[in-house]
Amino acid sequence: EQIWANLTKLEKATGKTFGKGPRPLLVSVRSGAKFSMPGMMDTILNLGLNDSTVEALAAQSKNERFAYDSYRRFIQMYSDVVLEIDHDHFEKMLSALKKERGARIDTDLKVDDLKELVKRYKEVVKRDSGKAFPQDPREQLKLAVNAVFNSWQNERANKYRNLNKIDHNIGTAVNVQSMVFGNLSETSGTGVAFTRDPGSGKKLFFGEYLLNAQGEDVVAGIRTPSAIADLKKARPSLYKKLETIYKKLEKHYRDMQDIEFTFENEDLYLLQTRNGKRTALAAVNIAVDMVKEKLISKREAVARIEPAQLDQLLHPMIDPKAKVDVAAKGLPASPGAAVGQVVFNSEDAEEWTQTKGVDVILVRQETSPEDVGGMAVSKGILTATGGMTSHAAVVARGMGKCCIAGCSAITIDEEARTFKVGPHTVKEGDIVTLNGTTGEVILGKTALVEPVVAGAFNQIMKWADEIRTLTVRTNADTPQDAEAARGFGAQGIGLCRTEHMFFGEERLRSVREMIFADDEAARRAALAKLKPYQKSDFLGIFEAMAGLPVTVRLLDPPLHEFLPKGAEEVARVAADLGIPEKKLHEKTEALHEFNPMLGHRGCRLAVTYPEIYEMQVEAIVEAACELAARKVKVYPEIMIPLVGMTTELELLANDLRGVADRIIRERRSKLVYMMGTMIEVPRAAVVAGDLAQIAQFFSFGTNDLTQMTLGFSRDDVAKFLPHYIQKGVLKDDPFATLDQQGVGALVQMAVKSARSVNPKIKLGICGEHGGDPRSIEFCHRMGLNYVSCSPFRVPIARLSAAQAVIENSKK
Ligand code: PEP
Ligand code: MG
Repeated sequence: EQIWANLTKLEKATGKTFGKGPRPLLVSVRSGAKFSMPGMMDTILNLGLNDSTVEALAAQSKNERFAYDSYRRFIQMYSDVVLEIDHDHFEKMLSALKKERGARIDTDLKVDDLKELVKRYKEVVKRDSGKAFPQDPREQLKLAVNAVFNSWQNERANKYRNLNKIDHNIGTAVNVQSMVFGNLSETSGTGVAFTRDPGSGKKLFFGEYLLNAQGEDVVAGIRTPSAIADLKKARPSLYKKLETIYKKLEKHYRDMQDIEFTFENEDLYLLQTRNGKRTALAAVNIAVDMVKEKLISKREAVARIEPAQLDQLLHPMIDPKAKVDVAAKGLPASPGAAVGQVVFNSEDAEEWTQTKGVDVILVRQETSPEDVGGMAVSKGILTATGGMTSHAAVVARGMGKCCIAGCSAITIDEEARTFKVGPHTVKEGDIVTLNGTTGEVILGKTALVEPVVAGAFNQIMKWADEIRTLTVRTNADTPQDAEAARGFGAQGIGLCRTEHMFFGEERLRSVREMIFADDEAARRAALAKLKPYQKSDFLGIFEAMAGLPVTVRLLDPPLHEFLPKGAEEVARVAADLGIPEKKLHEKTEALHEFNPMLGHRGCRLAVTYPEIYEMQVEAIVEAACELAARKVKVYPEIMIPLVGMTTELELLANDLRGVADRIIRERRSKLVYMMGTMIEVPRAAVVAGDLAQIAQFFSFGTNDLTQMTLGFSRDDVAKFLPHYIQKGVLKDDPFATLDQQGVGALVQMAVKSARSVNPKIKLGICGEHGGDPRSIEFCHRMGLNYVSCSPFRVPIARLSAAQAVIENSKK
């Protein structure tokens, strides 16, 4: 009822009649979701045309060609969206007709050609749907509205929502708009523009248009459009109108706008405006510029940057020193660089990355919304046609993925799975390098380097630091990582995993000697050989983190991880250590575990062999004392992993405090250290109040805590997790984004009981969640002192921590 009532209003407002001449009203039916999902849902244009209104439209516009062009477009879109007839049939027919008539582009087709095309299209409809093309415009409208509503549930929209964490239940609106016609004449057209450059953020009007075309021609990337700057030259008065409007829109929305416009000769129409998708570089530059322009506040600037997108700014670029041989150049649609093996469709992209675990570059004629899944898993995207606002470009930028679009120098043969570029033929599986910043396609592998971050990025980070209350530390095991993390703004190490220090030829030998030792004395002798290595590692790390706290976690993995694998290695190691192969086999057998993750690891190792942790603590404290004596500020925090029982922590902490205090006493040092534990066994969260009487700090090891709370093996989860996500059983991967209801409840409980007995206890998180924006928001709400994450995620965490403050102050 609402539709018909409003249609009547629309007829009055436009002076046109729906379904009748002499001035037939045509409408577009399009989706309108709360969050923009470019191209993911369906649209139908020119609805209301039939065999009689097409004639009326021709007479009214005095342009028969235009009327039939609109009709053939309508049949094609309606058949695709409503009747679900493969859109390829129509495309092929269009190409065939163009060939027959010697037409190079669509607009070369004459009115009779278009009439012929309409006839052929209608035959396809009859053949494939069993019914003639519907002539009743009301029927057309009803079915079109339903189809657009239904397109909320199509596969690509589902994938897009999964990728962008958009709620599947919010649904879409459907808009019925009166049509205006970019295909009315050679002086009409349509375009898409951004009020600032969505790639760099520069303050310049950026966009493209096509003459004698309708909207889908631009976004679908079927024809390569002209730059908006050309419009300024060709149509100055029209451009002036557009300029006035875009400036007004940006000022009103106080954000960069992505607008769609159409002009019928001199009349300009705006079809839609929305906040534009942009690269991280553009996001940062625009936010900082808008603060300078007094359009937004610093807090708004910080709130506007998508933390996950920052990755783009921190990710690789082509080594400027690398010698590159550019094979072709396309449009620099989304910056960054990528190296990978060529695949020619999205299914292969998904398949190759999942089963072969290789990096792929998706090469397509043009991408369509169906390709989002493939685009998401690819390192980079290369298309032969389409402009900077084509689907591939817009979606890739949103994903922060390197993309080159409209690279007309490549000729793709999808059947043969090859593309030709100059004299070269590139086959499926061949390696190519893309430079999305310049649009250059390079054959073979090119060296990539980490980017330098500066300017606007640092400004945003500075503002974020002023706002946030959470400290951000890093997970780092080497002085190099520690230094890199400091460069990204880390305020200490939240997790230094010591097991990596047990690898390396010489060290591994001593580790194995320790494992094969028959008694404690022999074990201690082997450990004594390891200690100098450990100590020198700690010297390096403490020095790199001078002035900042460093949490060192004592040995965590099961011992069999250090044993040789395979007959050859076993034989070599046996010979090297001078023990019989048989004994080595027996020992390996004895160390075998059915479920190592729940086996003899973490503090359980130290309950059995206290000397291992004792050696590590000696190395930590000796290194720290030596640096302290040299006036280097060191704040070691010794962390015991996998504690579940208060008695475990009591036993080990007493022993290790004894070791540490003895060294400090012997050296007459003033070193201050802390002793704490990880909370990664659910039981530890439950008894946190008791643990907090012994520990000076807790670090939530949410990787293990998730594993044990959900009962999902960290190593095997990939087998079933995709199904859980796909079927909506789980919304997110709980190992990436903290399960707040379950695991989070344990964290909350532990925080509360720990603080009640030990108000000064320092609380942090060092699981992977420490670098995940939504989990950081949770940590902020829980009142943790810090989050710790891998070096590259430190800026993301700093920004997320600031956004958590902003978001919660709104509440
Ligand atoms: C954890 O379990 O969250 C943790 C940080 O330790 P690891 O990943 O080394 O088990
Ligand atoms: Mg752990």
